[in-house]
Amino acid sequence: MDYFPAFLDIRNRPCLIVGGGDIALRKARLLSKAGATLTIVAPNISGPLSDLAVEKGHQLAKRKFRSSDVLGNWLVVSATGNAAVEASVFKNACSAGIFCNGVDSVANCSYITPAIVDRSPVIVAISSGGAAPVLARKLRGQIETMLPNGISRLAALARDWRGRVGKHLGDVLARRRFWEAVFEGPSAQLAMAGDITAAEIAMSALLEDSSVKQDGEAWLVGAGPGDPGLLTLRALQIMQTADVIVHDRLVSAEVLDLARRDADLISVGKSPGCTANSQEQINALLVELVSSGKRVCRLKGGDPFIFGRGGEEIAALSKENLKYQVVPGITAAAGCAASAGIPLTHRNVSQSVAFVTAHGKDSIDNLDWASLARDKQTLAFYMSVKRLPDLMNNLIENGRSAATPVAFIEKGTMPEQRVIRGTLGQLTLLAEAHRIVAPAMLIVGEVAAYGIAEVGDDRHTPTKYTKTDYMITQKG
Ligand code: SAH
Repeated sequence: MDYFPAFLDIRNRPCLIVGGGDIALRKARLLSKAGATLTIVAPNISGPLSDLAVEKGHQLAKRKFRSSDVLGNWLVVSATGNAAVEASVFKNACSAGIFCNGVDSVANCSYITPAIVDRSPVIVAISSGGAAPVLARKLRGQIETMLPNGISRLAALARDWRGRVGKHLGDVLARRRFWEAVFEGPSAQLAMAGDITAAEIAMSALLEDSSVKQDGEAWLVGAGPGDPGLLTLRALQIMQTADVIVHDRLVSAEVLDLARRDADLISVGKSPGCTANSQEQINALLVELVSSGKRVCRLKGGDPFIFGRGGEEIAALSKENLKYQVVPGITAAAGCAASAGIPLTHRNVSQSVAFVTAHGKDSIDNLDWASLARDKQTLAFYMSVKRLPDLMNNLIENGRSAATPVAFIEKGTMPEQRVIRGTLGQLTLLAEAHRIVAPAMLIVGEVAAYGIAEVGDDRHTPTKYTKTDYMITQKG
């Protein structure tokens, strides 16, 4: 972040404008609107700027800038159109520890002013950090159309009710829920439409209801394989309303960035081989949080019910009669295959797909290898990187051809994604040669030869799905 965004309270605080033309006038209007007390210094001051000064009681100094002018001010604006004067204003402001905005050059700015959408008391400020002012203005235009003017009335009503709600609802969670219900319900619509009396009646009823202790609830939410674009709308809504988000290590940072800012984030990551958070501890944590009235988003990589131990978590919640809902996510096999251009099934080539985990010795021994080794089916292996020799030998011994195409998709759907292709007989060699690390998905079956043809290709390379390609890849 190149700039720290903040909203300044400059009511009745002295601020300095150096310059007397149109830009100085625009800056003076904005600072006056925010309640600043201005001193305007310039040898020539335009008529409209003088009028504004008289109307608002600002001081005018019709002379050249002096270094001592900056002293005692909270903010300085330099809008003279003269590079030397602007540099001097900036230098003096910096020496005095005062923030300065030189309108002609970013070099003379210790603060910059954003494009704004003013629905006071709601203000949206947009900045590109000076990189693309036209883009910032375009975004402002889009936001202007998204925010109805009634937002001002709604925010003002909320401000008037804050004290009353605080007195009535001592509990932070109850207050948060009250406001969410206001902003999502009829009160908000009524206030925005200007019917403040009806809005207040609806809010009073809601306030009475909110005094009753609310039950907690859990949502088991699939976060998909990593790319935030693959979250469902429902997942996003829950991430933005939950009080607590309990997430796995596999949930990507980009996805977590979309969580509500003031939600508590609890990581219960289980690294391979690490027992820091046992499943029992995670179940107990969920039960404790929901019992205390929290709305808990249990965010899991991929889909919660595919190798996600979601079944155990809902069993623990339901044993305690606690409420829960499940929101599916895009499982790693589907996300990785799509991202690598591999169709998991393909007419005449693969008529079924199995999601398989080959994680520990037990799961390897218990799998029905004879059935998995049959032709014309796709196998998508989860958590298998450590068990490749077992996997390869079992499939080949049970009759799957060593020439069967395979593809590893490492960190699928993320910017670092790698797709490594070869044949079943080369499985362990491929993993070693390319140093495949978790999380990686292994796809075994004829379909693995489809999609992006070359090892290490960028995933945006155009994909080819012809049968000829498949034959060539198989021969290679
Ligand atoms: N519930 C998850 C799976 C959890 S098991 C789901 O539905 O996807 C964890 C395994 O999923 C990893 O070992 C890896 O095999 C696979 N996996 C998860 N995310 C992945 C990703 N972005 N790229 C490749 N494999 C991934």
